[in-house]
Amino acid sequence: MAKPRVTGKIDLSQEVNLFLNMKITLIKNTKIVNEGTIFQGDVLIKKQRIEKISNQISLGVHKNYLEINGEGLYLIPGMIDDQVHFREPGLTDKADIFSESKAAVAGGITSFMDMPNTIPNTLTQDLLETKYKIASLKSLANYSFFMGICKDNLEEALKTNTENVCGITDDGLYFNNDQGILANYPEFLEKLFSRTNTLVALHSEDDRIIKNNTENYRKKYGANIPFHYHAKIRSEAACLKATKRVMAIAKKYNNRLHFFHISTLAEANLFDNKIPVWRKRITAEACIHHLWFSDKDYDCLGPKIKWNPSIKTGRDRIGLVRSLLNDKLDIIATDHAPHTQDEKSGNYFNAHSGGPLVQHALVAMLELYHRGEISLEKIVEKTSHNVAEIYRLKERGYVREGYFADLVLININKPRQVTKSNLMYKCGWSPFEGQTFQSSITHTFVNGHLVYNKGKLDESKKGQRLLFEKERLV
Ligand SMILES: [Zn+2]
Repeated sequence: MAKPRVTGKIDLSQEVNLFLNMKITLIKNTKIVNEGTIFQGDVLIKKQRIEKISNQISLGVHKNYLEINGEGLYLIPGMIDDQVHFREPGLTDKADIFSESKAAVAGGITSFMDMPNTIPNTLTQDLLETKYKIASLKSLANYSFFMGICKDNLEEALKTNTENVCGITDDGLYFNNDQGILANYPEFLEKLFSRTNTLVALHSEDDRIIKNNTENYRKKYGANIPFHYHAKIRSEAACLKATKRVMAIAKKYNNRLHFFHISTLAEANLFDNKIPVWRKRITAEACIHHLWFSDKDYDCLGPKIKWNPSIKTGRDRIGLVRSLLNDKLDIIATDHAPHTQDEKSGNYFNAHSGGPLVQHALVAMLELYHRGEISLEKIVEKTSHNVAEIYRLKERGYVREGYFADLVLININKPRQVTKSNLMYKCGWSPFEGQTFQSSITHTFVNGHLVYNKGKLDESKKGQRLLFEKERLV
């Protein structure tokens, strides 16, 4: 440990100032969940980074640092959510970067990657940089923004700087253009994949199958299609066909391809679990809503759990959890996509797809831990370590000396009910309302700064732009 104590002659007031300026926090006697193990120890944070991890750290007689008693708490690296729609600019009646980053930090998410279907769509490098500027002023969490790709902006998208932008994606853009989801345009994907080494992340569903299914159910029910048919309309077959098609093209060009929100066991079974995540060229994620809800929940929650891709069967839900355990699926994300309560009501066609999740993503996963479905080590691997590996994130995603102190303390046995009054989302609703989770997030550090402390937010410091290493040679 670099000794924080200053030796030599120094008067006390000066020394106190030195300590305050050094911004030291000592977390004592906590259970650290990191890299497949859990061990008891102390963690010293100095300025933005983890200075020391040890069985016991003592700072001697000095009292001018923040000490947190971590007894009975678990310390994990903050969740890095690679798929959020924070809606800014242009859709700030639903959400904005300030409101949703607050909810994210309260939920134990310390970094996020945001989608390009804002208004205007993020289809030029200038528009992309505008989002980074907004976030630098407003975001409480660390941030990255995907460059959008559609059939009209290939040259512009290929200019993306992979050292300070997480990747290229089409996710969500199909809502605003009539081109549909790029997985349906193999000729275009051939063009894109043959020209880029950049990570491309895609939404994978087959438009034609969905259109046919929609027409069939419309004939039968008109506009009032019962919501549980959403699982049959945006069906397993639609997901599987598109995922197979895209995967084949990416294999041909050996691309770095990431599949967002895999929703079926049949697709999960397509992925490789024989090589470590950092060597994979094709990676995949599961999202919180697909790991939590199943088609049985539509009758009760209806439009609130309408998502694209849809929530499928209970067998799929269990299959996705198991595919995280056997490493066919690499990471867990939220696809946090808030809409106003008005937009989430009405008939099958009126109710928008998507919903807010960042505030309860980690506690929902911890609930699955309580039910014996997944270990704490695996949750940390899938919400943090592996996201850092997939995106080659610089110095984040682990509890390691020298890394940024993006850290979360959890009380595993402190139940809390989700109510309208404790939601931080701008949209003011959650699909989890009424649910009691057994665990609570107690503290969240972003770059060593204690942003969330037992229900209270310190908004004085903003998050940082995420940086990425150049691709490793494998
Ligand atoms: Zn999507």
